[in-house]
Amino acid sequence: MKKLIFLRRVSQGFFLLLFIYILWSTTYPLTGLLPPETFFKTNPSIMLFTSISERVLLAGLIFAGLMLVLTFIFGRFYCGWVCPLGTMIDVTGALKKRKYIPDNGLNSRIRKGKFIILGVIFIFALAGIQLAWVLDPMTIVARFVSLNLIPTVTLLIDRTFVLIIRNFELYGGFYDLYRGLKTTFLGVNVHYFSNSLIIFAVFAAVCGGSLFISRLWCRSVCPLGAFYALVARFSLLRRVVDKCTDCGVCVEMCRTGAITGAASYNSGECILCMDCIYSCPQKTTRFSFIKRQKAQEGDDREEGRGLSRKSFLFLLLTSIFALGYKRRNPNMKKGAGPVIRPPAALKEKDFNDRCIRCGNCMKVCPTNGLQPVMLQAGVESLWTPALVPEIGYCEYQCTLCGSVCPTGAITELSHSRKLTIKLGTAMVDRSICLPWNHKSDCIVCEEHCPVPDKAIKVTEERHNGKIFKKPFVDPTLCVGCGICQAKCPVRPDRAIRVDPSTADRL
Ligand code: SF4
Ligand code: SF4
Repeated sequence: MKKLIFLRRVSQGFFLLLFIYILWSTTYPLTGLLPPETFFKTNPSIMLFTSISERVLLAGLIFAGLMLVLTFIFGRFYCGWVCPLGTMIDVTGALKKRKYIPDNGLNSRIRKGKFIILGVIFIFALAGIQLAWVLDPMTIVARFVSLNLIPTVTLLIDRTFVLIIRNFELYGGFYDLYRGLKTTFLGVNVHYFSNSLIIFAVFAAVCGGSLFISRLWCRSVCPLGAFYALVARFSLLRRVVDKCTDCGVCVEMCRTGAITGAASYNSGECILCMDCIYSCPQKTTRFSFIKRQKAQEGDDREEGRGLSRKSFLFLLLTSIFALGYKRRNPNMKKGAGPVIRPPAALKEKDFNDRCIRCGNCMKVCPTNGLQPVMLQAGVESLWTPALVPEIGYCEYQCTLCGSVCPTGAITELSHSRKLTIKLGTAMVDRSICLPWNHKSDCIVCEEHCPVPDKAIKVTEERHNGKIFKKPFVDPTLCVGCGICQAKCPVRPDRAIRVDPSTADRL
């Protein structure tokens, strides 16, 4: 029985379900068994590069360090046994049995890609720019799960229930079951996220590569995989072959190209999938804790060559570009950006560097108001969260986004502090406001304003014998929650809009 492969599959399934469960339970009132940031805080690439670029010591560094210790002992086990994206890549790859097997030369060239990407991320981090999120597997899969998978599944289940209840008039126990699910598993509102098709396309492209070359992403792009590979070169647990006949079966079976010949095994590329144990016709392959000295006799042959001149030149040019970009970009110094950020987000530059685009805050926002930004705030803000009052406002009493942010890009606030934090200031556009411009009755914004003393005041004006109440904003009281913009009946542009330039950015 292929016991170890069975165990690996159980482990992959367990961690994938755990990952989805944690994201699923990242919703009001946060009653999940594990903190929403669990997986991100154990991610050495995210924690280290965010700390370097932001010059802070993130609490997650301890857990990330622990992962590196485990990698030193067991090798790159995370990629083969834990990584949720790795599991999804394996599942996609299984759809096509026959794949291209790159020869040693090509294999060695493509695997260098991930180290170069890691080097670029490191150089940018030194220059104070955090790029770890761009290709990090955990953020890619978290965005897919939170912003694509969960909304689609909840929508499908929700609509199916509604269809059945309406068509078969099942208003008894079945309806009660539906209501029960709505208040627990499904959530009261079905959330939608803008640009989610692009997020899905990125995820599909990452997984789709495995249909052509197995684990193509993990071999050639993944910076987290590269990080683990660097440590796993020195790992204690290694593949051992007692009597090899050089039949080459394991070379073909190895899903990451870690075995390149009879006595050539690259422990940095090995993800401990255990396939080579069971594919070996001689049954002489095993994994064992062995002494470093012995291990190096035949293993890791290719790794002594170091960085090629071309790669070194590329990294050098990248560092010059990184420093130049930092100096040139005016958005880098701005306190507030052009979009409404979540309450007590860090200053725009720090926010862009600290935010890893995991989507936790967007998933948890009860009004669905936090949406992923595309290019409205510059390319450096891609997929960061911004409040879109046309979709949802910032709930006055809610502090969830700060509680679930793994890197502190959004400051964690107490309820009392939250009530004083400004996201911006609302401004009435008198040219389209109904009472101001059309002399019709409307004080919807004033009615919804949650500030106890009402940040929206009204001035009365008599017209044709009738008294009109015209709203205006007291900027000293307004917290920029956006509920007035959300509820304003004027279309397409709202007659009251929040200007983010006065936000409290910490
Ligand atoms: S701000 Fe939101 S998307 Fe960015 S790291 Fe924090 S929780 Fe994740
Ligand atoms: S944004 Fe609108 S609703 Fe919110 S505090 Fe300001 S005036 Fe009131």
